[in-house]
Amino acid sequence: MRYCIVGAGFSGAVIGRALAEAGHKVLAIDDRATLGGNCHSERDAETGVMVHIYGPHIFHTGNERVWDYVRRFGDWIPYNHRVQAVSGGRVFSLPVNLLTINQFFNKVMSPAEARAFIAAQAEKIAEPKNFEEQALSMIGPDLYRAFFRGYTRKQWGVEPTQLPASILKRLPVRFTYEDSYFAHPYQAMPREGYTEVVKAILAVDGVELRLSTRFEDVDEKFAHVIYSGPIDRYFDYEYGRLGYRTLDFERFTHRGDYQGTAVLNYCDEEVPFTRITEHKHFAPWERDKLEGSVLYREFSRLCGPEDIPYYPIRQTNEEAMLRRYVSRAESTGGVSFVGRLGSYRYLDMDVTIAEALDASSRMIAAIRDGAKL
Ligand code: FAD
Ligand code: UDP
Repeated sequence: MRYCIVGAGFSGAVIGRALAEAGHKVLAIDDRATLGGNCHSERDAETGVMVHIYGPHIFHTGNERVWDYVRRFGDWIPYNHRVQAVSGGRVFSLPVNLLTINQFFNKVMSPAEARAFIAAQAEKIAEPKNFEEQALSMIGPDLYRAFFRGYTRKQWGVEPTQLPASILKRLPVRFTYEDSYFAHPYQAMPREGYTEVVKAILAVDGVELRLSTRFEDVDEKFAHVIYSGPIDRYFDYEYGRLGYRTLDFERFTHRGDYQGTAVLNYCDEEVPFTRITEHKHFAPWERDKLEGSVLYREFSRLCGPEDIPYYPIRQTNEEAMLRRYVSRAESTGGVSFVGRLGSYRYLDMDVTIAEALDASSRMIAAIRDGAKL
C-alpha cells in the first residue's frame, strides 16, 4: 500500500520526497490547482513580475541543514528584507531601530542615549502578560501607539491586551542603525519562485502528484496518511472551528515603481489595510528590467468557512479546543498531522522544513522497525 501526503506545501513536499527516496510509494494531493501551498508564486502574465500569490514570503534561517536542503532544489539569491512604516503621515524604518527613534522623537541620540531615553519611557512590567504590556515595557507608549496599536488591531481584530506577548517578541528593538527586518544569517529568494522549488522537491520517482483533489474525495486505502491540512477539518469540525485570520488582497498594477520598496506598512487605524506589497522589489535582480509593477493592498479579517486560513488566532478557548483535537489525533490510527495547519501554529518556512525533515526521519525509522507511526 502507498502513503498519502495531504497538502503539497513545504511540509508535504519534504516528507513525500523523503518517503519516496526511502523506497516507498507516495500519492501527494492538494485541493488547490497549484503547488507550494501558501508559498505559491507565479509570474504575472501582463507584467512578468513574480507574484507571491498568498502574500509576501521571505526565506530566512539560521539552520544550516535547512539552508543546505533548499539549495538542492533551485537557485537562491541573497535578499535583505527591509520594511518601512507610515505613521501619522510620515515614513519610518522598522523594526524599531536607532533611525526610527531619532526620527520619531526628532533627536540625534547615540545608541546609549537612545537606550536610556527609551528605558525612561518604558513601563516597568516584570512579566508582560499580553501584547500591549510587552510593547509598553519594550518601547513605551509613544512608539507603541504610533506603530503597533492600530496595526495590531487591524491585523488581529482584537484588542492588543487580548493577544499573547509572544507575537511582539518576534520583532527586535535595536539601538543601532541596523534595519534588516530579520536577524538570520541566511536570507534569500528563489530565483524562479517558491513553486519551482516545491516542484523540484516532489520531482522524484515514486511520487504521484494529484492537484485539485480534496482528501475527502479520495477513495483509496493507504499505509498511512500524512496530513498537512487543518486538524479540525480532518475531524469534520467535531469540536468546532479553530479560529484563523484570513487576508484579502486588493491587486493593482502600476507603470514604473509605485512605492520604491517591497513592503510599506500602514500603522494608522484610519487606513483600512495593513500594508502594501510591491512584488517586483522581492526580486531586485530583475526589478529594473520590468516596466510594469504588481501590488497588493492587504486587508485582514476573521476567517470564514470558505476562506483560506492564514494566521492562527490561538486565544484561550482555542487552546482548549486544540487540546481536544490533539488528543483525538493521538488516539486515531493511520494518520499523522504536520505543518502549520496540522499543528495550528504560525510556522516560518525554515521551521516548517526543519520539522518536516525530522518527521520524515522518525517515520522512515518507524516503518523500518515496524513501529507505530
Ligand atoms: P501550507 O503551505 O498551508 O500547505 C498546506 C496545503 O494543504 C495547502 O495547499 C492546502 O490547500 C492543502 N490542503 C489542506 N487541506 C487539504 C485537504 N483536505 N485535501 C487536500 N489538500 C488540502 N514564512 C517565512 O519563512 N517567511 C515569510 O516571509 C512568510 N510570510 C508569510 C506571510 C503570510 C501572509 C503567511 C500566512 C505565512 C507566511 N509564512 C512565511 C509562513 C509560510 O506560509 C508557512 O511556513 C508555510 O506555508 C507552511 O507550509 P505547510 O506545507 O505547512 O502549509
Ligand atoms: N506589527 C505592528 N506594526 C507593524 C508591524 C508589525 O503592530 O508595523 C505587529 C503585528 O501585530 C504583527 C506582529 O507585530 O502581527 C509581528 O510582526 P511580524 O512582522 O512578525 O508580522 P506577521 O508575520 O504577523 O505579519
